[in-house]
Amino acid sequence: MTSPLYVYDDSLLKYRFHSKHPFNQMRLKMTTDLLMASGHLSASDIIKPREATDEELELVHKSDFIEAVKLAGEGKLSEEKMESYGLNTEDTPSFEGMHEKSRMLVGATLSAVEAVMDGRTDKALSLAGGLHHGFSGRASGFCIYNDSAVAIEHIRKKYGKRVLYIDTDAHHGDGVQWIFYDTNEVMTYSIHETGRYLFPGTGSLTERGTEEGFGFAVNLPVDAFTEDESFLEIFKETFEAAIRKFQPDVIFSQNGVDAHFRDPMTHLALTSRTFEEIPRFVNEMADKYTDGKWIAVGGGGYNIWQVVPRMWSQIWLSMKGIPAPRGPLPEAFMDQYGPKSPVDFPRNWEDVLTDYNDIPRREEISEKNRSMLTRAMLHLEEQ
Ligand SMILES: [Zn+2]
Repeated sequence: MTSPLYVYDDSLLKYRFHSKHPFNQMRLKMTTDLLMASGHLSASDIIKPREATDEELELVHKSDFIEAVKLAGEGKLSEEKMESYGLNTEDTPSFEGMHEKSRMLVGATLSAVEAVMDGRTDKALSLAGGLHHGFSGRASGFCIYNDSAVAIEHIRKKYGKRVLYIDTDAHHGDGVQWIFYDTNEVMTYSIHETGRYLFPGTGSLTERGTEEGFGFAVNLPVDAFTEDESFLEIFKETFEAAIRKFQPDVIFSQNGVDAHFRDPMTHLALTSRTFEEIPRFVNEMADKYTDGKWIAVGGGGYNIWQVVPRMWSQIWLSMKGIPAPRGPLPEAFMDQYGPKSPVDFPRNWEDVLTDYNDIPRREEISEKNRSMLTRAMLHLEEQ
C-alpha cells in the first residue's frame, strides 16, 4: 500500500471572483491547516500543483472560449462577447488574470491524476478542483475551466484507462456529464438535489447518455430535505452497481459538500455522518474494484467556517484509512480561525445537532427517494 498524496499551494487561493462572492478558496487553506494541526497531514504528503497548458485545456474546451477567457481577464473583451461565453454574469463574474488563475486549478487536478497514473501513489486528493459546471465552450455556475473533464480526458487519451466519475455535490454535475454524454469509455454518475428548485435544473433519471454513451450517464436526483439515511442508502447501492456495470480502472470523485444542512445554497439536510461515510465508502470500493486507484477533488461548499474544513478533512483521513475523529477540534486550528469566524465556530469534528430541526414530511421524502432508487437500479442492472 502506498501513502496518499495531497496537492496544495497557496497560489490556488487566487481563484476569487470578488470579496463578497460565495465561492471562497480560503476553505482550501483552512482544511489544510486543520489536517496539519490534527497531525494527520505533513509537509512530505504535499505535492505542488503544476500549470495546465492550453493544449491540455483544449482536450475538452473550445479554443475560442479559452481565447475569450484570456481576453476577459485582461479587460479586453466586450460585454456582449463576454455574455455569449457565460463570463461576467452575476454567478461567474470575470476577474483579473482569470485564465492564469483558473488553469492553476486544472493543473492541480492533473498533478493528482499523474501521481496516481504514473504509479507514485494509489490515491491523491486535490481540493482545488471539482468545477463541474464548466462547459466546453461556456463558463457557468462559478466554474470557468472544467478541471475534472480535462483530467478524465487526459486519463483516457494518454493512459487509455476507463474512468468512473462520481459526483456527490448537491448540484447536478452537468458540465462533466455533457462533455462525455456520447461515449461509453467514461461513466458519469451524479447524486444531487432534484433540479426542480435548484441550479442547474438538469440531472433527471431519464438523462442516460446518447448513442454509444447510452447507459453511461447515471443520475440520482433526491428530494429537497433528504436526510443522511435515505441519501446513503441510495448512494451505496447505486455506486456499487455502477462500478460492477462499468468496471472502471480508476475512480475519480467530486466531493462538493454543499449538501450539508448548514450550507446556505441548497436544501438538503445531510450531516457530518454522510460526509464521513461517503469517502470511506469510495475508499472501500476503490480497494475492492480498482486496485485502490482513486483521485478525489473538491467542489461546492459555501459555509467555509462551520462546514467545509471538517467535511473535506474526511476525504484525506479516508485515504489514510483513519476512522472519523470524535470530540474537540485541534486547539491550534480553533485559535487560528475561531476568533475570525463571523458565525458560531464548531468545537467538534462531528456535528453537534442542537440546531437541526426535525424534517417535515420525512416519510414521504424517503418513500419518494426509494421509488427513484428502484427505477435507477433497473437501469443499472440492464445489460
Ligand atoms: Zn454545488
